Amino acid sequence: MKKYDILIIGSGLAGVSTALELSKNYKIALVTKKKLEDSNSYLAQGGINVLKDKSDRRTFIEDTLKAGHYKNNLQAVEKMVDMSQAAINFLLDLGVEFTKKNGDFDYAREGGHSIARGLHIDDEIGKGILDVLYKRLRERANIEIFEDTPIVDLIVNKGKCYGARSLDKIFISTNVVLATGGLGGLFDRSTNFPHICGDGYAMAIKNGVKLKDISYIQFHPTSLYEEGAERQFLISESARGEGALLLNHKKERFTDEMKPRDIVAKAILREMKKEKVDFEYLSMKPLGEDKIPKRFPMIFKELKDRQIDARYENIPVVPCQHYTMGGIECDIKGRTNIEGLFAVGEAGNVGIHGSNRLACNSLLECVVFGRLLADYLNENKLEDRKIDFQINAGKIDKEKDRVIIFERIREDERAKANSN
Ligand SMILES: Cc1cc2nc3c(=O)[nH]c(=O)nc-3n(C[C@H](O)[C@H](O)[C@H](O)COP(=O)(O)OP(=O)(O)OC[C@H]3O[C@@H](n4cnc5c(N)ncnc54)[C@H](O)[C@@H]3O)c2cc1C
Repeated sequence: MKKYDILIIGSGLAGVSTALELSKNYKIALVTKKKLEDSNSYLAQGGINVLKDKSDRRTFIEDTLKAGHYKNNLQAVEKMVDMSQAAINFLLDLGVEFTKKNGDFDYAREGGHSIARGLHIDDEIGKGILDVLYKRLRERANIEIFEDTPIVDLIVNKGKCYGARSLDKIFISTNVVLATGGLGGLFDRSTNFPHICGDGYAMAIKNGVKLKDISYIQFHPTSLYEEGAERQFLISESARGEGALLLNHKKERFTDEMKPRDIVAKAILREMKKEKVDFEYLSMKPLGEDKIPKRFPMIFKELKDRQIDARYENIPVVPCQHYTMGGIECDIKGRTNIEGLFAVGEAGNVGIHGSNRLACNSLLECVVFGRLLADYLNENKLEDRKIDFQINAGKIDKEKDRVIIFERIREDERAKANSN
């Protein structure tokens, strides 16, 4: 058994932002299923939103609410927007460098945004941020990192959390942070890593932790159409922000490319049905042959490796699973209904995204709410509790976990259908 002040499960931007904001006086364990870099945060392409100046406050909030069909938690959205500049300064202080143009930040625009407000690092915002943050994490003597250590269950007794266990280790802590990401890995076609498959939700359901709106699942309009891929390759929405167009098989436009994701994804599916085809096309040609490799070097190379030259050829695209808006119900400080158990990032649901996430709000949520949770724990860390019960060491059935998550999604869908 190992004992820690704080146990963080997950090495995406939510878990790592929390860890780096926590007091250096705490003994912290950060446990992750594979290597640190194997998080969906690391795959992020487009950008991270920031409030450029006060005049954009109302519009930024409204864009987020409108994309989310007004099912968002307004107080949480306001908090995120108001703390966005501090979140970016936190990243800058740690050494992150965003792409600049003529000495100023180069803001990207994506679907559903009234203005360009996404900071980017070429087309690899996740890697650009996390390569820096992982370096900082490894420099912290008070943080012990456990890679290749899947957590299989929480230790919860009578409404209180006492830690978590992996297959061969028991981590004791009265302050446990679930930053395990979403459930994309459960789907046959997803832009997410297959190993990020709702473990946090399964553990939550088994231990009486409340979920909220788990049936709110986002499908991204433009994943590359390819058979047999382990993970669907994404063509960032910022490509459309720079002028890329959606075309059908007659090479005609059929929708407004800059609408929020759910609307564009539905338009593509409708067109596919009408044309009786398996995909439609994205044309990056309007960007011009010089701009494509410069502005989107990673995407350009990945497509080139698959024998598609985005400068001259249309790209076959299809919507696929991308993001989990619902999740573990938590408040602005990450608190769940279980004492000592916190949730943050895609694992949690503080209500930022409503029923459809606005592009580039996810990374921002991770940093803002990771820091708020850490600040709360810096002031209010729970003291050790005595364990006077038997810790369950039973075998874990992953297939059963899968079933309980899908069952909960269906229950949530049914409840929503009945209330409409
Ligand atoms: C291709 C792609 C592009 C994207 N682009 C953008 C973008 O441009 N802007 C934006 O805002 N968002 C973007 N997103 C969304 C964003 O990257 C993520 O949703 C967000 O970063 C979630 O971060 P997280 O820390 O909550 O979870 P993740 O980054 O998914 O991390 C979850 C972590 O938990 C670990 N874990 C899971 N289960 C266990 C377990 N049982 N035991 C131990 N560890 C476990 C995982 O290994 C991982 O380290 C993109 C997502 C994808 C997939």
